[in-house]
Amino acid sequence: MSSEYHKRLNIVISAWICIAIGSGIIVSSGGTSFSFAVAVPLSLGGIFLLLIGLGMDSQKSISPEKIESWTPDASLLPDAGRAMYRVDTTLNQPIRTSILCGRCGNIVWVDGRKPPFFSCNNCDILLWEEE
Ligand SMILES: [Zn+2]
Repeated sequence: MSSEYHKRLNIVISAWICIAIGSGIIVSSGGTSFSFAVAVPLSLGGIFLLLIGLGMDSQKSISPEKIESWTPDASLLPDAGRAMYRVDTTLNQPIRTSILCGRCGNIVWVDGRKPPFFSCNNCDILLWEEE
């Protein structure tokens, strides 16, 4: 775990605590004006922190290097009586699709989106065929 990850986690956690305390004060004190004066800024601060925490999260998850180096796990999928497969298409250009054959664990990359049909070139079984 990197320190950056922990920093983000701490922000998210403290945000939730702020919201929880803020809501708790309103409920426990029966909604007096004093409790609102304390609780509302606390809750808003919590929501603000939460947005920052989540924003950092989404920023990190779309880093191009990470997408570029991403590959699906070459793990065997459970055999449910027929050939299983997993198809992952990249969200960013260049659009590429990885096909994981569940029978043999072979990963094939094709350009573009999921093709209408595909057979594994390793164990030579038809994984799918769209009508
Ligand atoms: Zn295969």
